[in-house]
Amino acid sequence: MKKIFISLFISIKLFAISSVEELSWENGKTLLDFLQDHSISLNLYYNLDAEDKELSAEISSGVKYQMLKDEQGELEQVLIPISDDLQIHIYKNIDNKFVLNFTPISYTKETRTLYVKINNSAYQDVYDESGSVTLARAMVRAFRNSVDFRKAKKGDSVVLIYEQKRRLGKLFGDININAALANIREKEYSVFLYKDSYYNAQGKELENFFLTKPVQYTRISDRFTRARYHPILKRYRAHLGIDYAAPTGTPVKSAGEGIISFVGNKGGYGKVVQVKHISGYMTLYAHLSRFAKIKRGQKVKQGQVIAYVGSTGMSTGPHLHFGLYLNNKAINPETIVKIPKSSLSGKSKEEFLKIAKTYENRLQNINEDFINPPKEQNIENFMEF
Ligand SMILES: [Zn+2]
Repeated sequence: MKKIFISLFISIKLFAISSVEELSWENGKTLLDFLQDHSISLNLYYNLDAEDKELSAEISSGVKYQMLKDEQGELEQVLIPISDDLQIHIYKNIDNKFVLNFTPISYTKETRTLYVKINNSAYQDVYDESGSVTLARAMVRAFRNSVDFRKAKKGDSVVLIYEQKRRLGKLFGDININAALANIREKEYSVFLYKDSYYNAQGKELENFFLTKPVQYTRISDRFTRARYHPILKRYRAHLGIDYAAPTGTPVKSAGEGIISFVGNKGGYGKVVQVKHISGYMTLYAHLSRFAKIKRGQKVKQGQVIAYVGSTGMSTGPHLHFGLYLNNKAINPETIVKIPKSSLSGKSKEEFLKIAKTYENRLQNINEDFINPPKEQNIENFMEF
């Protein structure tokens, strides 16, 4: 594995190599701290524009990053993932000066099907069969509001059709279960993923997690974008949240019920509050001017004031940067700020039913004779839970 990594590095610049180190990003560490620790010019950070400075605050604690050193142990290159799609690449240019780029993480997506006969518990059996905790967790989420696995008996079964990402031979990032079928006590339950949410075969939404708007805003000044190439700037951009423009001091409310998991400073995001919700969801509120009377570990209700709009960190004017994460992975908040348990209708229902039907046929054709993909051995613990 190391060999492949090294050849990737070499393709950029040729030099004597001694080692690739894999390290875990420390809690609370910022990109500036990192540059300082390694005596790299802080201008690499200061010369970024506001959007990229903000983005650099997305490096999550525990994320695995790689450092390439030469024979003398001098740092040559660094790769720091900031999402499933994008990473920070720091390397020496031809003048032997460090430069910093945002580059896409190249990976392949693969669709897999898994048939599991329930022996102990559905969670344990899926884990045993696949070798992936991420998949077992994804299954729990998919069936959360439709199947009570405690009622399952020996011999019941689960079929999962899912999509996973692989980079340099290792699995990494989140897994999406696109369709699943559980056979519990002679009853069948199928669920289908459609636009980040789970529905039953009739197009009725199964998840009851929903968020309300966190602030009274004047306008949306920036929307959610995953890594996308900017043809004019000729580089990769991303904005992993929504920016709501609002005057300084406007109350910021928790978008859902949950527990305060972070209150403090977070690099380009300035003053930040994070709230943990059910089902692996987390919301982030950034650039705050000040906090309400809250502390870590405290329970908050939906709509409870947790802070006030400001312009701290990398911000061009007072606004709330609102981020939504599922299992630590940024997702578009606009897909989930909505009314609870909605049913699809019109064009989206038509589209959904077509997708669901294709999957339903595939799910029904899988039985115990199905040969599962080989158990995963090489899982990169990229997303910490
Ligand atoms: Zn923002």
